[in-house]
Amino acid sequence: MTNQNPETAPSAPSNFIRQIAAEDMQTGKFGGRLMTRFPPEPNGYLHIGHAKSICLNFGLADEFKGLCNFRFDDTNPSKEDIEYVESIMEDVHWLGFDWADRLYYASDYFERIYEHAVQLIKAGKAYVCDLNADQIREYRGTLTQPGKESPFRNRSIDENLDLFRRMRDGEFEDGSRVLRAKIDMSSGNINMRDPVMYRIKKEDHHRTGDKWRIYPMYDYAHPLSDSYEGITHSICTIEYEDHRPLYDWFLDELGIHHPQQIEFARLNMSYTVLSKRRLLRLVNEGHVSGWNDPRMPTLAGMRRRGYTPAAIRNFCERIGVGKKESLVDIALLEYCVREDLNKKAPRVMAVLRPLKVVITNYPEGQEEFLDAINNPEDPAAGTRKVPFSKELYIERDDFMEAPPKQFFRLAPGREVRLRYAYFIKCESVVKDERGEIKEIHCTYDPATRGGDAPDGRKVKATLHWVSARHAVGSEVRLYDALFTKDNPNDSGEGKDFTSYLNPKSVETLDRCYLEPGLKDAEPGDGFQFERLGYFCVDTADSKPGRPVFNRTVTLKDEWAKLQKASSK
Ligand code: ATP
Ligand code: MG
Repeated sequence: MTNQNPETAPSAPSNFIRQIAAEDMQTGKFGGRLMTRFPPEPNGYLHIGHAKSICLNFGLADEFKGLCNFRFDDTNPSKEDIEYVESIMEDVHWLGFDWADRLYYASDYFERIYEHAVQLIKAGKAYVCDLNADQIREYRGTLTQPGKESPFRNRSIDENLDLFRRMRDGEFEDGSRVLRAKIDMSSGNINMRDPVMYRIKKEDHHRTGDKWRIYPMYDYAHPLSDSYEGITHSICTIEYEDHRPLYDWFLDELGIHHPQQIEFARLNMSYTVLSKRRLLRLVNEGHVSGWNDPRMPTLAGMRRRGYTPAAIRNFCERIGVGKKESLVDIALLEYCVREDLNKKAPRVMAVLRPLKVVITNYPEGQEEFLDAINNPEDPAAGTRKVPFSKELYIERDDFMEAPPKQFFRLAPGREVRLRYAYFIKCESVVKDERGEIKEIHCTYDPATRGGDAPDGRKVKATLHWVSARHAVGSEVRLYDALFTKDNPNDSGEGKDFTSYLNPKSVETLDRCYLEPGLKDAEPGDGFQFERLGYFCVDTADSKPGRPVFNRTVTLKDEWAKLQKASSK
């Protein structure tokens, strides 16, 4: 099912909307002007799918010297919240886009949207209908059967004006009446069968308070909001294709500025879900710690995980923009993150599963500071000093008492290099009363300091390490995919998507040791832990002097390698 693989992803991805925009600029449609918008509903946090839309809308504006508005599509008070408004603004800024002074709210247009509804009533194009929701559904018909006209369809204009006014004034109960567009109950497009424009909802709105007792439906409020702002290209996801005739109908009937709606395929990504409804369930049912849990596909989660805005923008560019829905491989996103961090992240040494090493021939109490390279990809990043002493930690996995043939790291009698330090040789293994390895005793060769052996002897492995006395203690969280199924949305097995949650999506290691410079790492700072992957300081749980680290991404694309191996 997956079709985007780092190796085969096209280098110049197609974007048909860019072509439409270029043509429109050339032919002078909309007077050679381009104006897009990003219109989130503040009913959840933004996810990676929204990033695709943000990059597309702001990107087009940039490319064609146009503008992109930022508009909260806040027409449904029941699901919306100020927390979401704030997080959405933070996330768009973080991603690297700026709407300057063009921040709008659909709710600011409520009066105008209402007046336009009155205009439609006066033109005989809208009516108040007293059918309840079930009846409206029943009367609507199906794909194969035409709908039936509402008995209230032919109310007089005066009666409609009066009832609509009283709906606004709060005279009627929720659900007792709606305002509907008078279009065509036998249309082949169900969206055109007298769709609801307004419903009564006696609920306070986070911006307009108790001023409104009726709220416009998305399909009616959206084209009008676009029109008021002078949008030229109204870009939305493919499920709105069938709503386009309605979008056009409202604007044509009102005779106001008419943007062009263009639909593109929404982003779906493997091993995750991208619908706010489902993400909200993950949060509310406690499957994750919140909208910004580092395993969430939200921008807040990815930021906390250590993904960079540049990596996400690059991903959005690489996946291209088309009409056909597909499942983008999450490995492509990870590849983009790795590619960006490889250029930028300082290298440091950290031991996640420690094994103590005592250098028996190293003087007690001595310490020395060795030069370590901060980033081989970036010579300007310079070097730093790392302390070395008699007792060190290495990774437990880097030692085996009885190694198999292919194991080249430390083992009894064997010599390896400690990165930036010395060759060490394992002389003996010390065990506790239960027979578990407690520490290993090694000797070091002072002549190998920071380089090779003068006698030319070679070692087969270089290990990272941390001086025990100088180390900073830390908790490190290793993350894996949130779901075990490539498409948890569409199980085909009649199961709820939560049944595919990965029980091992996080592993917490709480006895990790870091080189001392990391003591002062700031929340959000990212590093490459040599040989282990990219990690960043957690913004929520770190304490001064005791950073908590999140693994952003592994160093190599082990997952893609595994896939390749299994497909052979
Ligand atoms: P969800 O299905 O996650 O609830 P939505 O479409 O209801 O998403 P909105 O807040 O209305 O969420 O979306 C704002 C903009 O982001 C819309 O223009 C929408 O087309 C776009 N968008 C949302 N999800 C995706 C996605 N998966 N891929 C691309 N664009 C998306
Ligand atoms: Mg929506």
